[in-house]
Amino acid sequence: MNKLWMTINGANAEGDLSPISVLNPADETVIYEAPQASIEQLDLAVEGAVNAFKTWSALSQAERDVYINKIADTIEENAEQLANIIVNEQGKPLQLAHMEVGGAVAWTRYATNIDIPVEVYQETDDKRIEGRRKPIGVVGSITPWNWPLMIAIWHIIPALRMGNTVISKPSELTPINTLHLGELLQDVLPAGVFSVVCGDGKIGQAMSEHKKINKIVFTGSTLSGQRIMKSAANNLKRLTLELGGNDAAVILPDANLSKLAEAIFNTAFINMGQTCAAIKRIYVHQSQHDQLCELLAEIADKNIVGSGLSADTTFGPVQNKNQLEKVISLVEDAKSHGATIYAGGNRLDTPGYFYPPTIVGNANHGMRIVDEEQFGPVVPIIRYTDVDDAIQQANSLEVGLGGSIWGDLDSAMQLASKLDCGTVWINGHAEILPHVPFGGCKMSGFGVEFGLEGLLENSLLQVTNINKN
Ligand code: NAD
Repeated sequence: MNKLWMTINGANAEGDLSPISVLNPADETVIYEAPQASIEQLDLAVEGAVNAFKTWSALSQAERDVYINKIADTIEENAEQLANIIVNEQGKPLQLAHMEVGGAVAWTRYATNIDIPVEVYQETDDKRIEGRRKPIGVVGSITPWNWPLMIAIWHIIPALRMGNTVISKPSELTPINTLHLGELLQDVLPAGVFSVVCGDGKIGQAMSEHKKINKIVFTGSTLSGQRIMKSAANNLKRLTLELGGNDAAVILPDANLSKLAEAIFNTAFINMGQTCAAIKRIYVHQSQHDQLCELLAEIADKNIVGSGLSADTTFGPVQNKNQLEKVISLVEDAKSHGATIYAGGNRLDTPGYFYPPTIVGNANHGMRIVDEEQFGPVVPIIRYTDVDDAIQQANSLEVGLGGSIWGDLDSAMQLASKLDCGTVWINGHAEILPHVPFGGCKMSGFGVEFGLEGLLENSLLQVTNINKN
């Protein structure tokens, strides 16, 4: 892989600290030594962002949209290379990596379509009171390893579009595509408008504490989100926290399982289950438990597990060793507590972090596979006695990102508001769209991304109270 630099104040920067080895999850080889930033380098990036803010924030939306569209063009022109980087560092099959790059382009272009309204609170003969949106300043973006390019874009583009400048810190496990994006955008954006610094949680924490960073948008685990929230108290930073979930799918009694099974499987195992809003627990009426497990197992067994670069592969590796070990320990715990493995259930005996799609039936609360977020290629199926029991079990955890109800439309609509979560899908799950706000409740975080609401999270409301006479 070609050498890549961090982007600080519009220029390439070597890391001051010793580099971080990046592994290919399909064969566990080191594919890259990523630069690691010092606190002094973060300070330089912040100074650059503070300076650039003066001119960037003064541009009109139309002027900024020219730049945003150029970013989309640049990603599109480099799609092949970015998709290959994603497969090599993240593991997903190439086709899915292309979807990720396509999503990054679509989200970028969509941002330019959003009109930012001026709210009029009062318009009378003697007075007009209105609310206008201003940028916040320097926004820090901290991203995870599951959809490394797309989540970075979800953070960066709305912040830039609102007139903020941005410093991005990718996950130390998948930094390569964000580093490459930084280099590509050196030719597109004025210096300091967008910087990339690399490192682990320590540099993320330094960003959260930094007095001149005015907002952090974070996607990652609840634990890191809590730490960021504490550090952010330093200068009362604005926060958007998209944290862990453990999404429940409730399958209504008498649902047509043969018709639904494929969609349930796909939305549980998207990106090998490493998706924040994938189905992570399935509740099914006790009379249909065995049938659902068998149908899902049949689909699971048809998958071809292998390297994301191989043309036949439909199912790639888990991204990293810790996550694989977590999946293994949750499945072993379930086995030891009497769960039934209908498909998968063991790591493949080959180099790489390969674990086949795994269906765990007869699962219960009290088993770790149900109570903890697995964030990997395994889903537990839990019986319920009646719909009230299903909703009660679904709501019993501390997290609340997404949820879904499957089966008869009228019954599902009546139940939707009873699920404690940010998005309820009916006869679907995990569909995330650029024009629809997305976010969680409870320990899954707060704030939303996407749509007008997501854009406005990158702004401050300023009220102007005008006495006309
Ligand atoms: P993580 O929290 O370990 O790491 C995420 C990022 O935070 C990395 O860049 C990491 O370096 C950084 N970080 C770690 N400690 C930090 C600290 N103290 N201060 C600041 N930054 C710190 O999460 P992960 O393992 O990369 O991602 C998996 C988790 O992310 C899962 O729980 C998943 O549900 C969640 N996730 C949520 C969403 C969502 O939209 N809600 C999307 C994707 C992933």
